[in-house]
Amino acid sequence: MATGILDDATAISGEIADLRHAIHAEPEIGLELPKTQRKVLSALEGLPLEVSTGQGLGSVTAVLRGALPGKTVLLRGDMDALPVTERTGVPFASQVQGAMHACGHDLHTAMLAGAAKLLSARQAELAGNVIFMFQPGEEGQGGARIMISEGVLDAAGERPCAAYALHVASSILPLGVVASRAGTAMAAADTLHVTVRGRGGHGSQPHLAADPIPVACEIVTALQTMLTRKFDVFDPVVLTVGTFHAGTTDNVIPDEAAFVATVRTFSPQSRDVIKNAALGLVRQLAAAHGLEADASFVDGYPVTVNDQAEFGFAQQTTGELFGDNRFLTSPFPLTGSEDFSYVLEQVPGAFIMLGACPADTDPATAAYNHSAEATFDDAALADGTALYAELALRRLAAP
Ligand SMILES: [Zn+2]
Ligand SMILES: [Zn+2]
Repeated sequence: MATGILDDATAISGEIADLRHAIHAEPEIGLELPKTQRKVLSALEGLPLEVSTGQGLGSVTAVLRGALPGKTVLLRGDMDALPVTERTGVPFASQVQGAMHACGHDLHTAMLAGAAKLLSARQAELAGNVIFMFQPGEEGQGGARIMISEGVLDAAGERPCAAYALHVASSILPLGVVASRAGTAMAAADTLHVTVRGRGGHGSQPHLAADPIPVACEIVTALQTMLTRKFDVFDPVVLTVGTFHAGTTDNVIPDEAAFVATVRTFSPQSRDVIKNAALGLVRQLAAAHGLEADASFVDGYPVTVNDQAEFGFAQQTTGELFGDNRFLTSPFPLTGSEDFSYVLEQVPGAFIMLGACPADTDPATAAYNHSAEATFDDAALADGTALYAELALRRLAAP
């Protein structure tokens, strides 16, 4: 069953790399990616696919219907870049100031297009359908959720039995190593907004004012203390205050102090608990000092949870395709977040990392994803293409 996919992927690795380089040179950020979308559409041209594009975003959904009846599998590749100015020096570097494929989504897009080609060539023997989900707006805009609302999960006429996404890493994982884990794979990321409202006055007479700054400072440290007392150490929470603003000069007590924090959780339970606990603590601590606080959470992406059985299937498929030494069971979830989590809330599946660190670089010290110097090796392209295709082939062939 496995024979051939890797060879076929290697045979088209030149054109996959060309597509990757073209996308990389013209990166686009967010939900509308007209140039990237056009490149994908032209790569899919002539293949026996039902292709549609998004309404509220520049997505591409392609459905391959096998000649034989069977189940449906979804493969996802994200397409968007980041607001980063590239400093890699690669020959196909970004030509757009302030935009870069620093998270490797150009590789995902090219590999998924390659997989569409490989699977299309096997249409006659394919039992079931494959949905290719080319998604914009992963980096914060929630493109996956919009594609779901526009019907990507029902694009083949029935819900997929499984969904898979690959993600390349420019560091940590050695080139070609595939990594995943059962259960929580990535964090949920929500944002806490706090404004402590006091009463401004003269810096020399604080007793006549209601100073919001020390109260806001106390809230920041109290939140950290709460994390160590309210949560299981094996289901941790990360809370980082990334902005803190108050005041204009040394002798004026301001009316307000405001801060914003990112809050990372690894289970839906902790995600619920921190929301209530943090809001209560902020408001009550302000009240204890006779001040008021506005506090609210803005929801980011949910926890990315891999299905136990689909994780096992991905592990087995990787082992049989590349050899067992190429698969690594990740010991911990990643503290980043992913909007493939919205797909995995509805369809069992797996989010799978693929090492793309340049062969001549030490993964331990290589530039991380999102860095202006993050470099991804083209040598990962054939493997990623083959893995996408093989996951679909085997999953559809499974009873
Ligand atoms: Zn990213
Ligand atoms: Zn990414």
